Amino acid sequence: MKNIYSMKKDDLEEYFINNNEKKYKAIQIYEWLYRKKFCSFDDMTNISKNLREKLKEDFTIQKLKILKIEEDSLVKKYLFELQDGNMVESVVMYHDYGISICISSQIGCNMGCAFCESGRLKKVRNLTPDEMVLQIMMVEENIKQRISHVVIMGIGEPFDNYDNFMDFIRIINDPYGLAIGSRHITVSTSGIVPKIYEFMNENIGVNLAISLHAPTDEIRNKIMKVNKVYSIGEIIKAVKEYILKTNRRVTFEYILLDNINDSEKCAKDLAKLIKGINAYVNLIPYNETNNIGYKRSSKNKIMEFYNILKQNNINVTIRKEFGSRVSAACGQLRSKFEGGK
Ligand code: SAH
Ligand code: SF4
Repeated sequence: MKNIYSMKKDDLEEYFINNNEKKYKAIQIYEWLYRKKFCSFDDMTNISKNLREKLKEDFTIQKLKILKIEEDSLVKKYLFELQDGNMVESVVMYHDYGISICISSQIGCNMGCAFCESGRLKKVRNLTPDEMVLQIMMVEENIKQRISHVVIMGIGEPFDNYDNFMDFIRIINDPYGLAIGSRHITVSTSGIVPKIYEFMNENIGVNLAISLHAPTDEIRNKIMKVNKVYSIGEIIKAVKEYILKTNRRVTFEYILLDNINDSEKCAKDLAKLIKGINAYVNLIPYNETNNIGYKRSSKNKIMEFYNILKQNNINVTIRKEFGSRVSAACGQLRSKFEGGK
């Protein structure tokens, strides 16, 4: 049975129309779910008893279980258990501009990037929209504060779970839903090109980040096997069209891995590759993990790389580090938890 937190407002409207009910009931349900939060169908006193019974037959209304929380002053990391016993994780970060959450979109990931902890576990299944929505709601309930920003950069490849991911976005962006503005939502993809084209036509205004991580196919093939399917050239072409269509700036994420993609030549090649594109580069100091041999580039190397991009008039930032102390890199909490069982 479907969890009601999986339903977009228009899905509920359609459901009510098909059941000879008025479609505004969808808004009433949304108010219960997303304003009053975590109630049962029996609490929904403005819905007739008969209809409540019908809803109970057709939907569940379940939360996630919090298995573990790790925290320090600026970061909290949550491990959740899903109904079927699988686990997912989310990371919450406190910024001066608000509170952001990093959401997982799948259990495991099939993209198999060589540096990524999540990719070590093959995809078990996609997360459903409710399982993504509830990561946010459970955290809000736990910290008793509103989350203002959402990034889909946890475990999984969101564009490999496109339909559920888009439903999730519509639910959290809905003014009657969690009402998180599209400019406050960022999705990151490893570069599934056909989905970049699909996404550009959604008319939603959500920020797009591309995990580029290398300036040439030769290097990218070694660390991201998805590059053998969708090459850098195809990604850049899609990104250019995306910008033309949406008028939105794109982010290129670039993890700096010692002696792999952090040379002066890499920086120059990267600058050449993206020159003239309305994009900026987010340099990410690699979070080393016990299970993977890659090393983080030195501070000097990172600054050198940054300076070369700057000199070439590329907009570039270095990602502020939050997570290393509370195992905030993708997949680390879960793998620790599973390892410790
Ligand atoms: N699958 C999507 C979104 C999840 S990964 C994607 O790949 O874009 C989110 C980001 O975290 C990606 O840019 C990914 O390359 C990066 N990442 C993965 N492992 C990391 C690590 N150990 N340290 C720093 N960044 C990491
Ligand atoms: Fe999957 Fe992203 Fe990790 Fe690659 S970096 S394995 S796409 S989660």
